[in-house]
Amino acid sequence: MENSVPATALPALGLGTYKLTGPEGQAAIERALALGYRHLDTAQAYGNEAVVGAALRAAGVPREAVQVTTKLTADAFGPADRVRASLEGSLERLGLDRVDLVLIHWPNPWRTAQEGTFRQTAAALAGMVGDDGPAASWGVSNFLSEHLETLAADGLQAAVNQIQVDALVQQRSVQEATRAHGAAVVAHTPLGRGGKPFEVPAVTAAAAAHGATPAQVLLAWHRQSGRVAIPRSSSAAHLAENLASLELELTADELAAVDAADSGRPARQDPLEFGI
Ligand code: NAD
Repeated sequence: MENSVPATALPALGLGTYKLTGPEGQAAIERALALGYRHLDTAQAYGNEAVVGAALRAAGVPREAVQVTTKLTADAFGPADRVRASLEGSLERLGLDRVDLVLIHWPNPWRTAQEGTFRQTAAALAGMVGDDGPAASWGVSNFLSEHLETLAADGLQAAVNQIQVDALVQQRSVQEATRAHGAAVVAHTPLGRGGKPFEVPAVTAAAAAHGATPAQVLLAWHRQSGRVAIPRSSSAAHLAENLASLELELTADELAAVDAADSGRPARQDPLEFGI
């Protein structure tokens, strides 16, 4: 069972919408769309699907010009009827006929078949995505190599694996496994939540060399390394700054220097610890 829509259809830079809620969140998403963002990342767990949908309508950008991703919580896990009902709930909140990409938010590998597992959920999604389905394609998030192997053994291929990647937590082996399984890597928390990755010497040095900001260096590094990135911001200045990273080209040496900053630390694997 192959995914019908290539993951590369995702624009290299999207808008992460975690915590963009209420009127302020809607205004931020509208601002991003007005600036030219064409890829929105939401999730059932963010409680803002209605806000994302409202922003999309208010911005007046044609629906087909924007790629919308949502993610299923573990409550959706199980046989096809449960998965479909949950996804239809998302569509209703978003006010959309379909999403472009639906992800299994976390593998929750401890769940039993009775509770609903990621394997059942992936099989159900593979059977319902496509041109006439509630989603154009499906993928996973926070999956480790072993979870991708489980899917492959079931003949299931995700279009993307959305995982934490920043300069200090690069999850290189998970990135490699994701690509080996034919999925694209989408970097969530691509700016390390605006913390320590901004201070990495390889990042600040490249920023100084190009008259760019650390955020722009990190985003160029993601793009030039073949990863889609979905930074979140609500300020017009940061939204524009992040979009302008598409013009920044780092040298091979600069890319290698950021690669070398990896701490090798694993990503957090507990949604509660992560703060969704
Ligand atoms: P992020 O790495 O995008 O960092 C966001 C922080 O950086 C915010 O405080 C923002 O104000 C700041 N920032 C943004 N642009 C800046 C700039 N140019 N200069 C200085 N500061 C800047 O963190 P995030 O929002 O947690 O992650 C991005 C998106 O990834 C989320 O919104 C969500 O869509 C997704 N995500 C997914 C998962 C998952 O489990 N799949 C987990 C976390 C995040």
